[in-house]
Amino acid sequence: MRATCWQGRENVRVEEVPDPQIMNARDAVVRITSTAICGSDLHLYHGYIPTMRHGDVLGHEFMGEVVEVGPEVETLRIGDRVVVPFPIACGNCRACQSGFYSLCENSNPNAGLAEKLLGHSPGGIFGYSHMLGGYAGGQAEYARVPFADVGPIKVPDELPDEKVLLLSDIFPTGYMGAELCGLTGGEVVAVWGAGAVGLLAMRSAYLLGAERVIAIDRFPYRLRMAREQAGAEPLNYDDVDVVEALREMTGGRGPDACIDAVGMEGHHSSAVLHGYDRAKQSARLETDRPHALREAIMSCRNGGTVAVIGVYGGYVDKFPIGSLMNRSLTLRTGQCHVQRYSRMLLDRIRRGEIDPSFVITHRLRLDDAPIGYEMFRQKQDECVKVVLRT
Ligand code: NAD
Ligand code: ZN
Ligand code: ZN
Repeated sequence: MRATCWQGRENVRVEEVPDPQIMNARDAVVRITSTAICGSDLHLYHGYIPTMRHGDVLGHEFMGEVVEVGPEVETLRIGDRVVVPFPIACGNCRACQSGFYSLCENSNPNAGLAEKLLGHSPGGIFGYSHMLGGYAGGQAEYARVPFADVGPIKVPDELPDEKVLLLSDIFPTGYMGAELCGLTGGEVVAVWGAGAVGLLAMRSAYLLGAERVIAIDRFPYRLRMAREQAGAEPLNYDDVDVVEALREMTGGRGPDACIDAVGMEGHHSSAVLHGYDRAKQSARLETDRPHALREAIMSCRNGGTVAVIGVYGGYVDKFPIGSLMNRSLTLRTGQCHVQRYSRMLLDRIRRGEIDPSFVITHRLRLDDAPIGYEMFRQKQDECVKVVLRT
């Protein structure tokens, strides 16, 4: 089959690789019809996630048709149309039973590698380094799906791929970002990053009762989408001091909740401050550039919540722990527990409450994955979300 393979920094190629096969009784093989490129894939593309190997098959956002099932998969049949969540989860362990699917205790065979960096290991993720399981990903024609009786959700034929594909990751992730804010109604929520994840967090914040949502980014086309498609008030961090501006917009208090939908490759409008973190990152003195996280903490109102859904990898510098501690802030975070949300969000899509496909800007063929990665990375052609069709 054809698959998008990591070749090293800023280099992916679509190559011929062996077809996946059933290895365990609870596996299924899915013929992929649509798959997407994620901001998380850019962290791999840029070489910031350790334990990638030449030839690794990328991709963790995919859907398609079940073509083979292991003998213990009773919930799926050949021919079913399914969306597959990006975290691989057994459904039975203590983490899964508590709804922490991305922390499954049975899905990462390389837990020892993750423990070195993280203390304890999270669960496995499709196409996301050997430290997180070494599973082949879904930017390919086929994928092996472990624990296929737990994760994949069947989707009805009348909903086109684009309306449901994003249930594999970024719609539940955006939703979880808003849910972590503990909204009860009437809050002001600020979201750093108007990428696909941030945009879906903004929409979700309104679904969960926020009164105002403020979007922070520097790309005018993304801020325009935030305003037009997600009803957010845009703030361009190239033009204003974000902490100051947010204070002014909220009567001096700051937003009730702040969502970091940027993660480890944050950018700073000040060349000096951006250079500081870039240099430290290059010298491996810190692994991540936490500009958005620092600002989110400094901006949040006293006693408020900071939700981190942007992905971080290791260690950061100049972390404002004093602000966090002295002002009774709550920090909540996680790789999304997609399985917790996907069925409920599918129902919302079916009822017409939301159509997450508004973030999709580019449709390419699988063979054009390298073009998709470059365009997305450079934010060319007003790119927000690339979908690849097989
Ligand atoms: P993206 O690259 O399209 O968007 C990131 C946006 O952040 C860009 O628009 C960029 O301009 C903006 N940005 C950079 N520095 C900023 C700053 N200092 N302040 C405000 N905005 C800034 O990526 P995406 O697909 O939207 O993903 C966003 C993040 O979410 C990534 O870190 C990705 O890994 C993460 N993610 C997490 C999960 C999860 O389960 N927690 C799932 C999917 C994606
Ligand atoms: Zn993703
Ligand atoms: Zn589990």
